[in-house]
Amino acid sequence: MNRIYNFSAGPAILPEPVLEEAAKGVLELGGSGMSILEISHRSKEYEKVHFEAQERLLRIMGLSADEYAVLFLQGGASMQFAMVAMNYLGEGDIADYVNAGEWGTKAIKEAKKVGLGTAREIASSADRNFSYIPKKFTVDPNARYLHITTNNTIEGTEWFDTPKTSVPLISDMSSDFLAVQRDFGSFSLIYAGAQKNIGPSGVTVAVARKSFLAQASDNVPTILSYKTYWEKDSLYNTPPCFAIFVVGLVAKWIEEQGGLAAVERKNKEKAGLLYHTLDELSGFYMPTVTAKEDRSLMNVTFRLQPRYEELEKEFLAGAKERKLDGLKGHRSVGGFRASIYNAFPIEGVRELTQYLREFAGTKG
Ligand code: PMP
Repeated sequence: MNRIYNFSAGPAILPEPVLEEAAKGVLELGGSGMSILEISHRSKEYEKVHFEAQERLLRIMGLSADEYAVLFLQGGASMQFAMVAMNYLGEGDIADYVNAGEWGTKAIKEAKKVGLGTAREIASSADRNFSYIPKKFTVDPNARYLHITTNNTIEGTEWFDTPKTSVPLISDMSSDFLAVQRDFGSFSLIYAGAQKNIGPSGVTVAVARKSFLAQASDNVPTILSYKTYWEKDSLYNTPPCFAIFVVGLVAKWIEEQGGLAAVERKNKEKAGLLYHTLDELSGFYMPTVTAKEDRSLMNVTFRLQPRYEELEKEFLAGAKERKLDGLKGHRSVGGFRASIYNAFPIEGVRELTQYLREFAGTKG
């Protein structure tokens, strides 16, 4: 197969060795005589897949299984927006949210809908089209939790330092989970839809401090209760077996790459190359995130300078001819977005920088 360079924001590119292993598993899981698509989630063979994936994820994050649990959920990160509030925002409670993008906006909206307490937006970068991460805010010391989004997939900003807070910290890490090193131990709950960095769509991974899970509400439907997933090892009902299988393969691949330190180094190299090129050609292109310290390593957003904007379609068509696909920006912001998750090869980034130079050279 002649693979293209897939810059899509998600579902996104997966490592080729993972695709090969996944394909084998679709035919037969181990020596079971059955496909991963056919096998019972109560079988020994599947349990091995399930528990190994959880162990690998904790190991990569440097977390202990005594303190943290890995949960496999469905409904995407979008369902977590509601689940967080259903489980933790009780009557009379306050929860604080830092809003740095469209996904953060949705997280607050859902919390206001289903939380019994008060969801407050304590900081926002909406004033400048979410082009930076708001870092000045005061958290209510009695807040039930502080919610942030580490990487803003649509706007192309990323939060590299972990905010210091005395209240439990919750993060939507959908688009930079396992892409950079973090002090994961300072988070009480992390959730991520798998389809960007760690697998196919269909599973949402949550990593939570057990002492925080113990505080979740008991008054939520069983299937929406974090305690159910924790107490039943995410096997209360049928889990998305295939998606979890692939998450385990991606985790194995990350370990083989040398863990998060190695993955982060490569991600910095790729993003550095791309931002450097865009800055160099700033008479023609315009990176949309001007706060350089907040530029995402995962989603590089840029536009053509206003006087060249009518060339957008031509730019995309020319890119596609070179097998550079998925560069159209999110429909809500326009422009372009190059998503360069863990599995995205540096050769593809080089190809894009070359195209950026050529296009600017002939049209600018
Ligand atoms: N949060 C972030 C940061 C995202 O990038 C996305 C998906 N693009 C979501 C939440 C929503 O995820 P899902 O489609 O898995 O519900």
